[in-house]
Order: sequence, then structure tokens, then C-alpha cells
Amino acid sequence: MTGTGTNSDIRNRAKAAFLGVAVGDALGAGLEFMTPGEINAKHGTVREIIGGGWLRLKPGQVTDDTEMSLCIARAVDAAGGWLLPEIAESFAMWLRTKPIDVGDTCRRGIRNYMLKGILESPFNQWDAGNGACMRMLPVALCTFCSEDLLESYAIQQAHLTHNHPLSDAACIALGRLVHLSLQGYSKPRLRRELESLLSCYENFRFEPYRKLATAYVVDTMQTVFHYFFKTRDFESCLVETVNQGGDADTTGAIAGMLAGAYYGMESIPKRWLKKIDRNLVDEISTLSDRLLDLSPSMVSV
Ligand code: MN
Ligand code: MN
Repeated sequence: MTGTGTNSDIRNRAKAAFLGVAVGDALGAGLEFMTPGEINAKHGTVREIIGGGWLRLKPGQVTDDTEMSLCIARAVDAAGGWLLPEIAESFAMWLRTKPIDVGDTCRRGIRNYMLKGILESPFNQWDAGNGACMRMLPVALCTFCSEDLLESYAIQQAHLTHNHPLSDAACIALGRLVHLSLQGYSKPRLRRELESLLSCYENFRFEPYRKLATAYVVDTMQTVFHYFFKTRDFESCLVETVNQGGDADTTGAIAGMLAGAYYGMESIPKRWLKKIDRNLVDEISTLSDRLLDLSPSMVSV
């Protein structure tokens, strides 16, 4: 692959990346907060979407990772472009529905918007969680082929809830890897791109892998990078990632985003897709096309 993706190839990868978020979220959600040893003792290696876990999920049920991504996607689609207040409003509407799970930092940021209209959380040394990173896919789609827009929108949406340089760096790096994957670039090219992040932020180095998969954005991204570069297909990337436990729905969602963009629709196991609500699959498919249509690269295609 040389990076000369056709229009239909890019659309296929975009859809796979968004569905990858949902599939990875649903696959990992039942394992959230477990250790690899606990997972193995209870289930062996988890290869199916079984639900359960501390949230007692139905098999195929998704959580905040997918729902917050949908909030951004719907807001950008409805506004016909990027309007941060619309995204904040979409998060607020979602929080009012009493979602099954909300991270503490996300809840605080959304409540500050609801009560005081604040669109940028102040810097906080404890805000280096993965909550801004997990909802990056719609940002990558609507900025496709513009690194400047990617950087600007990634940080705007992140700072609604998380204002921390490590979270910002992870959001931008993830967005760049998704852009390159959508264009059909190879793993060595992605690895080189990642090297520029690692040279500025040494803490994201994932070799040797430390086997931590917590919600700290550094641990989360090390886990995703490790398993994405170690494995050779979508299924094994996601299986290995979620069986690492910890924040498994979020590592699963981010791994699914990247692996979906890289390997495309044909790589996503049908038995996993079938577990996801049909209406959700349809909405994600429609939104991924519409977000790409709003991106600078596709306006003329
Ligand atoms: Mn979640
Ligand atoms: Mn999570």
C-alpha cells in the first residue's frame, strides 16, 4: 500500500474505523477494570462480545466511548461543519439522558458547560485521562487531509473536558495515524509518524511494553500502540488489547478505531458486527460518509 487510496477505499476505511470504535467498546466493556489474570480465570481468552462486567451490559451494548463519539458526529453533521458550542450542547443532552457510564472528568467538564457555559476546562494536572482521545474518530473524519484543522479541532473538543498536554498530544497523534491509515499507508509509515510523537513525549514509548492498560492516557495509548503494531489483523488486535483488561472498553474502542481505519470493513468479524444494534450500525455508516463529505479533502471529490 502506497497511500493512494481511492474515494471508495477511503469511505470503506472511515466506516470501519467508526464501527471499530463501537465493536471495540462492546468487546472490552464486559472486561473493564479486570486484570488479565482475572479475565483468564473467568473466561479464558475473550474472543466474543459477551456483555456483562461491572455495568451488567447486554452483549453488544456500547458505552460512553461510542456515545460521546456519536455526540460529536451528530453535532458536526447537523451543523454542517465544526461548531464547538453545538458539540458541547450534544454532550449536555447526552448527560441528561443519564448514560450508563460517564468518566468523572467528562462529567465535570460537561456540567461546567451546562452551569456556566464554559467551553474550555482550565488546565488540570489530573486531567490526563483517555476521555478526550476515545472520541477522536469523528474529528479525524471531518478534518481528513488537513493536519492544521485536525490539530485545532482535536484540542478544542478535548478541552471541553480534558485540558492536559499528554491528552492533547495523544489526540493529535491518534488523529494523524487515522488519517494515514485512511489513505492506505503501511505500518512502517505509521510507525515513523508515531516516532515524532515519541521524540517529544518520551512517556508514550511502548517498547518494552509495561502491560498497563489504565485510563491514564499514557497507559491507554501504550497498550493500543503495542497491540496494533504487534498484530496483523483487526480481530487479533482487538482480542489482545481487551484481554489486557484495565480500561478495556476504551483501549478496545481506540484500537478498533485505528485497526478499522487500517484494515477496512472486510476485516471486522461479521459475528461481532451482528451483535451491535442494527440502527446504530446504520447511523454510524451514514455519519462516517457525511463527516468525510464535510472534510477539506472530500469537498471536491
Ligand atoms: Mn466506556
Ligand atoms: Mn472506559
